[in-house]
Amino acid sequence: MLRRFSLVLGLVVFFWSSSAQAWCWWNCNSARTKYPIVLAHGAAGFDELFGVIEYFYGIPGALQDKGATVFVTEVSQLNATEVRGEQLLAQVETIVAITGKPKVNLIGHSHGGLDVRYVASVRPDLVASVTSVGSPHKGADLADFLAANFEDGSFTQSVLSFFAELLGTVIGIVSGSSNPQDGIAALESLTTAGTAAFNATHPAGVPSSSCGEGPASVGGVRYYSWSGTGILTNVFDISDPAMGLTSLFYSGPNDGLVGRCSSHLGDVIRDDYFQNHLDEVNQAFGLVSIFTSNPKTLFKNHANRLKNLGL
Ligand code: CA
Repeated sequence: MLRRFSLVLGLVVFFWSSSAQAWCWWNCNSARTKYPIVLAHGAAGFDELFGVIEYFYGIPGALQDKGATVFVTEVSQLNATEVRGEQLLAQVETIVAITGKPKVNLIGHSHGGLDVRYVASVRPDLVASVTSVGSPHKGADLADFLAANFEDGSFTQSVLSFFAELLGTVIGIVSGSSNPQDGIAALESLTTAGTAAFNATHPAGVPSSSCGEGPASVGGVRYYSWSGTGILTNVFDISDPAMGLTSLFYSGPNDGLVGRCSSHLGDVIRDDYFQNHLDEVNQAFGLVSIFTSNPKTLFKNHANRLKNLGL
């Protein structure tokens, strides 16, 4: 009797553990990409404030839980794309050396989406894929407005530059970085004219038409993008009214800071999630719409997409 009971118990435990392993093999490894995932922040961004508050709020952990190897980079909060891009490239070279993996999957939010394009343009051999989230590849109307209304060398430009650089420096200090800040260079990088000049030198992935998709693959590097067109998405998020204010500078659908069509790069996964510019990185503190795809889910799904392509 006892022997039979032990046998049945053993079989139950065996099937339970093997089914749990099978379930975990899929679920715990759905984001286990071949190459490390490298996250790159936007203008005035950071990796962690005070070592606690993540820019990509809860996203690195969500990806790691599904088996991904994730690195969060940090560049000058406010500076030209080429300057930020060179800083990012140095970090990518370090990541490649640390991990022993020959390439990385780059994902950039906002200005970070231009930085990752820079890295892929100058060192395509180090890049498996480039993904931008809410990035102004064809400029941001707000940057155009600010640039047009602050004439070169004027008092107002000096004031704007002072505050922008102060903001960048403060964020840099609390996030433990001392990268050089240049608010005007950052602004110029994000205007229609600034992005047009950047696109002429680094064209990979950029759509040729005003609102179409770009090539899905250029020189062996995969290109993707997604973005939102939501503005007021969560009544408890104090950053939503700010997005509402900045969205007034835009004539078409936008996420509060970047127009829907300007966000297009490579294979456009979707350009109208009910997310504003901060929701795209699960801010503030995870306060996003509860009625639509969660930002963390979008990042996890994308990692699974890259994994399934062998990247
Ligand atoms: Ca939000």
